[in-house]
Amino acid sequence: MLQREIPPMDVVGGWLLRMNASGVAPGETDDMLVYRERWPGQALRLGYWQGEPVAVVVEEDGEEWPAFRDWLAQLSAAQSELLATALQVTHWQRDHRFCGRCGHAAKRLSHEFAMHCDNCGLRNYPRISPCIITLVTHGRDMLLARSPRFPPQRYSTLAGFIEPGEAVEAAVRREVMEEVGVDVGRVSFFKSQSWPFPHSLMMGFFAEAASRRIRIDGEEIVDAAWFTPEKMPQLPPAYSISRQLIETHRGAVAIR
Ligand SMILES: [Zn+2]
Repeated sequence: MLQREIPPMDVVGGWLLRMNASGVAPGETDDMLVYRERWPGQALRLGYWQGEPVAVVVEEDGEEWPAFRDWLAQLSAAQSELLATALQVTHWQRDHRFCGRCGHAAKRLSHEFAMHCDNCGLRNYPRISPCIITLVTHGRDMLLARSPRFPPQRYSTLAGFIEPGEAVEAAVRREVMEEVGVDVGRVSFFKSQSWPFPHSLMMGFFAEAASRRIRIDGEEIVDAAWFTPEKMPQLPPAYSISRQLIETHRGAVAIR
């Protein structure tokens, strides 16, 4: 588990996660971590891992390392959290070097993930973008849809960003109506999952359909249909919250 307390500046070594623009270097002992008495100068402190300080460094491209998504498919939940944190914090620091209000160079505060502008005082924190992801059900059946970006034959749950000023439950109802034209009744929270591509926080819900008639928007969604638990299409990978929503429902309605 990542302990979320940033090591002070006089801590100069410990676990190190090495990544580049496309992947993560294999580690020595803990899958993706190596131990270094002295971190490289540009290493970014993340917290503590198994009681030892942990940092991430972004290296120049060149080495072919396993892709982030391949790592997420095999890591434990705690390791995934560490990798998601490393990805989001490094992207945020790269993209917030200047103040968005006055344009001066911003500087990183050492004790928290914050970029501070000495000129106007504006402070920037890592951006997290909340999204809803929802499995629409009708009795035992599940409504799954295809995005044009999916691999052929793949179907998944519905998802979308929460808009400014919008409540989470309202976003569930709006997205389902926009994408498949279905009214939903009861909405219940399942669980959440960080999705660091680039900074989404997926909030999973079950939504009970009030009717079965589907009307797709044809843009975000190219096909949608009801599926019985016994006859499913190709589904997203097991580590995704989408798949967990589907498997949880299948388990709950299984005929014993
Ligand atoms: Zn400023």
